[in-house]
Amino acid sequence: MPEKNDIAVEVKGLSKNYGDVRALKSIDLQIGAGEYFVLLGPSGGGKTTLLRLIGGFIRPTAGEIFLHSAEVSHLPPNGRPTSMVFQSFALFPHMNVQTNVGYGLRLRNMPKVEIRERVDAMLEMVGLTGYGERMPHELSGGQQQRVQLARSLVLEVKILLLDEPLAALDAKLRKEMCIELKRIQEKVGITFIHVTHNQEEAMTVADDLAIISGGKLLERGKARDLYENPIHRFTAEFIGENNVFDGHVTAVDGEGHVMVDLGYTNLTVHGRDQMPGVGDKVSISVRSELVQLVDGNAMAAQGQEILSGTHRETVYLGLTTSELVRLPNGQELLVRQLSDGSGGNGIKVDEAVQISWRTVDGRLHVS
Ligand code: ADP
Ligand code: MG
Repeated sequence: MPEKNDIAVEVKGLSKNYGDVRALKSIDLQIGAGEYFVLLGPSGGGKTTLLRLIGGFIRPTAGEIFLHSAEVSHLPPNGRPTSMVFQSFALFPHMNVQTNVGYGLRLRNMPKVEIRERVDAMLEMVGLTGYGERMPHELSGGQQQRVQLARSLVLEVKILLLDEPLAALDAKLRKEMCIELKRIQEKVGITFIHVTHNQEEAMTVADDLAIISGGKLLERGKARDLYENPIHRFTAEFIGENNVFDGHVTAVDGEGHVMVDLGYTNLTVHGRDQMPGVGDKVSISVRSELVQLVDGNAMAAQGQEILSGTHRETVYLGLTTSELVRLPNGQELLVRQLSDGSGGNGIKVDEAVQISWRTVDGRLHVS
């Protein structure tokens, strides 16, 4: 078991260029030992590049990588305390499960009996006891992914690197495997670094996560912090279902309220540590589930924001219902509420509506 407060991974000023492409731009990051850490971001953001640098498959253009306090930049993958689970299934098709999982141990010349014991223990860990004789093509996608996981875990590395490990699975299986991965990580107690572009997957497994986009690490935190209190506009757009309004600051009062002109109306939002100045460009985000349709003639109450628009569409999703509302500038806004079983609110397309939220639920993003 790792020591508490031990740092498994530390990267400093890490950059990677592929020719003219600046895939990673001076990343600084620390990951605690025994953590389930997720790198979340859009395709092309630099996630795989960062993972491959940590695993030693590629060399940095600049910067340093420490694994459990040892500088490893000069070491090949098999000289590092890491193992990688790849995006696509990479089992040897002509070997059965037992032989696939034991592959790395045979390379280390471990005695056969010991390999057998370790492989069996690992198959049990991933829920595949009794599958040792099967060939890869006799397994479902989820089972093949478990074999891959077992093949990496059996090496008893300190850090497991997983690059979009569930991307090839359908949505239901992905959900099940997420919970399974988390359970396995808790059991083995080593550090997992899991790369994904899927926010639900990220939030299910992560102790801690970082948003990576455009080669930069934007922010990191617990799932709840990033969901409820995103610092960057990008994070608000990427996580959850946020409505984002862009404008400029017209006033800041002594109590930390920031007045923002959207061009067609004004909103108020609570400022944060970093207060903008008058004239600054800023954004406000508010989550779709914190916005409500209100009476067309309602006036904004104290502590509430209100916007006028036209109703575009009702999308019934079972558990929730989304209302699409067009604002005067053409932007569309989402209101999402639990379906109430009333058979709909009867609002027609193009009918004038108002939407409202509590001022405290808005988040200010300073660009
Ligand atoms: P992600 O895993 O987040 O999708 P990657 O790390 O794969 O992102 O890619 C980051 C950027 O680097 C992208 O613009 C990608 O096109 C580029 N890139 C990745 N690998 C190579 C390569 N071998 N040669 C040139 N460009 C690359
Ligand atoms: Mg990738």
